[in-house]
Amino acid sequence: AKYVYRFSEGGMDQKDLLGGKGANLAEMSRLGLPVPPGFTITTEACRAFMRDGVVPADLRVEVTLALREMEDSLRRGLGDFHEPLLVSVRSGAKFSMPGMMETVLNVGLNDASVQGLTEYTGDERFAWDSYRRLIQMFGKTVLDIDGDLFADAHDALKAERGVKDDTELTGADLRGLVRTFKEIVREQSGQDFPQHPRQQLDMAIEAVLRSWNTDRAVLYRRQEGIPGDLGTAVNVQAMVFGNLGPTSGTGVCFTRDPSTGHSGVYGDYLPNAQGEDVVAGIRNTVPLAELEAINPEAYSELRQAMRRLETHYRDLCDIEFTIEDGRLWLLQTRVGKRTAAAAFRVATQLVDEDLITMDEAISRVTGAQLGKLLFPQFDAEADTELLTTGMAASPGAAVGEIVFDNAQAVARTEAGAEVILVRRETNPDDLQGMMVAAGILTARGGKTSHAAVVARGMGTCAVVGADALDVDVARQEVRVAGHTLHAGDIIAIDGTTGEVFLGEVPVVDSPVMTYISHGMDAGLAAAPDEETRELIVAVHRVLSHADDVRRLGVRANADTAEDAARGRERGAEGIGLCRTEHMFLGDRRELIERVILAGDDDEERTAALEALLPHQRADFIDILRAMDGLPTTIRLIDPPLHEFLPDLTELSVEVALAKERGEVDEKRERLLAAVRRMHEANPMLGLRGVRLGLVVPGLFALQVRAIAQATATLRAEGADPRPEIMVPLVGSVRELQLVRQETERILAEEGRAANVLLDLPVGVMIELPRAALTAHRIAEQADFFSFGTNDLTQTTWGFSRDDVEAAFFSQYLANGVLRISPFETIDGEGVGPLVRAGVAGGRATKPQLKMGVCGEHGGDPESIHFFHSAGLDYVSCSPYRVPVARLEAGRAAV
Ligand code: PEP
Ligand code: MG
Repeated sequence: AKYVYRFSEGGMDQKDLLGGKGANLAEMSRLGLPVPPGFTITTEACRAFMRDGVVPADLRVEVTLALREMEDSLRRGLGDFHEPLLVSVRSGAKFSMPGMMETVLNVGLNDASVQGLTEYTGDERFAWDSYRRLIQMFGKTVLDIDGDLFADAHDALKAERGVKDDTELTGADLRGLVRTFKEIVREQSGQDFPQHPRQQLDMAIEAVLRSWNTDRAVLYRRQEGIPGDLGTAVNVQAMVFGNLGPTSGTGVCFTRDPSTGHSGVYGDYLPNAQGEDVVAGIRNTVPLAELEAINPEAYSELRQAMRRLETHYRDLCDIEFTIEDGRLWLLQTRVGKRTAAAAFRVATQLVDEDLITMDEAISRVTGAQLGKLLFPQFDAEADTELLTTGMAASPGAAVGEIVFDNAQAVARTEAGAEVILVRRETNPDDLQGMMVAAGILTARGGKTSHAAVVARGMGTCAVVGADALDVDVARQEVRVAGHTLHAGDIIAIDGTTGEVFLGEVPVVDSPVMTYISHGMDAGLAAAPDEETRELIVAVHRVLSHADDVRRLGVRANADTAEDAARGRERGAEGIGLCRTEHMFLGDRRELIERVILAGDDDEERTAALEALLPHQRADFIDILRAMDGLPTTIRLIDPPLHEFLPDLTELSVEVALAKERGEVDEKRERLLAAVRRMHEANPMLGLRGVRLGLVVPGLFALQVRAIAQATATLRAEGADPRPEIMVPLVGSVRELQLVRQETERILAEEGRAANVLLDLPVGVMIELPRAALTAHRIAEQADFFSFGTNDLTQTTWGFSRDDVEAAFFSQYLANGVLRISPFETIDGEGVGPLVRAGVAGGRATKPQLKMGVCGEHGGDPESIHFFHSAGLDYVSCSPYRVPVARLEAGRAAV
């Protein structure tokens, strides 16, 4: 295999092999933009390293050749005494994993080349500072030495010299610090800091490869659903220096406003600094526009590069750059990360500029992004006490208790609290706390700081750089605006505006949701500002286009009239699943208990059923009225029995205690005997669905009768109810046939009584492997299919859907058996083929058979794309997810 690609050899389509950063560096080189020379070690090398535990032998040779070319083109040598070349060694995987893996800078510095660097730059202080940075980073990431040892020695030196700022240390001070750092390396690792530049390079490459599997990287991938076997690429690139003095600097910029998509100059610049200083948020940056005054030529060259990149990618790009002694270098670019709101506005803005089509626009946004815009927000009318305003880094509204570290964050969330993680700044060690927090608040750092980038990635609300906050972790308090707050105190943060409030703040619907539910006028009226009005228009354009192009219908899962109405407001074209068992919980549980426990006592059972009938009829009238004119799939009862009978253990204890007291309670003892008889070790696989319907006479009949009467009543009122009767958990066509016969008999009977024709469709859930595999037979008795992918997943994997996630999924996600829960995203490899078999079987018998899906997967973006490709007619999901499903169904179609 070829493990090393020069930047001139790759391109942006090779993210699998070169990682995102490497592929884009190659693309920029190809475009002739000023990129420091370098090469990329492929993800394949990383996979080989993970497999064998050593770097492939060929890699060393390929690195030698690529390095020599680099040295020749620059006329400098790695570790050279006169003209030293220094390189950075950076990770870069296919999917961005900000701050999760390692980077080593200044590789190639040693006791000799530090002299060369002094000569080359004419700056002794700079050269020794670079050397100390190398030893520090190398010691920590390559040799695994506790980083605090270096930081403490650095601080001690500053204290000794009586200075506050790093830049106040002299060249001689730093030379002494290098000596101290080398001693730390020797003591801690038992070896000298390696002087041989090539040895430094090889060790750094290996450390970066290894960092693919650090705990925090593994945790991050699990959270983001990134497969663990992809591996990272490694980019080795000539160093350029942004810290050579006032004519140097480093920055980050966007090719257009990352929140509105309007063109303009957006970014941060930090004079006389290295890139790491910006990302760490340690010093405060100046707006990019100020670069024009500082260095007009570099500024103008940067503007040209921005335009070039945007035209090439036809999208908002973000760029990291460094100016070394007046000369511009581009270090990285990518299609820019953006907030959910920005994604919609940027996409429609690009359409308006004729850079992309509407079809492309809908593929530039995601259902997950739309979902975020639907979150409730703080009530603008509420009385609030503003503590301070920081930078709005990741949108949303969060209210919670202050916590200061991972341990508190985890403990309080486990106790059921919502928490806001408050830190001076965050780093990768804070990941665990960030993951459980409802919101993240930092005192330092900009929009590109670790806290901001990670929070956006996780969709967690964040406010950063609120520098009025005095965060004192040691004393477990934060002081702001005359208040001293402690862990456990409630605050509210608004990631859309950057505001931080004291105490609870009430939360209201998002204006985008108001638009979706109540139309454009209502949405615009609810929008607090022009930006939000623009956003609503952008969402409207995107969603309307998705509705135009999608083939999949979208229905809602709803068991109550309110939910049905909510789904309909949000664009549902029907109900795909009304779970009737939920109607039997609460007060009516006793009635259903009577039906099930009646046994051979026909009279008792009939009485209980008759008591239920009016309730059921009323339920159906409500729902069918809410869905007037739209198909409404009512599923006959499918209760795991344990949800409807008294708990066996509790009942046994009650009876035993009564006995002890010498009481005789015949009724209870009979009940206990019945419950014992019906008790199942795994009720999920037992007497459920159609099985229960066939075993307990009259139960399904009652429901069919209630549906028939509700329909007749509504028709008499002039309404247009469209119920569809659905039979759950069918495994054999005979089961369906039996239910169908009885259903048709009752419909005919009720039809005669009300003098209306009731030929309601009778369909079936395909949710057992046997049903999928015998779909051609089942279709003979079915008017429609609906795939129940929850049960289909449970029975295909043999996972109990109620227990498995808590029991061992975290291990299965960690060891890579699962990439994501198969109950969340359809398992395309194992469950998908059963869906396809069901579709093929059903259509073989009835080419026009209507087919949908009503498992949880119906609202999951990735799964929706699968259902589109499998040829289903509609998806059905919770009312909340209906807009998301509409968008994703559109995206699947273009
Ligand atoms: C299913 O199994 O996917 C389904 C929709 O039914 P339930 O979740 O009610 O079992
Ligand atoms: Mg089911």
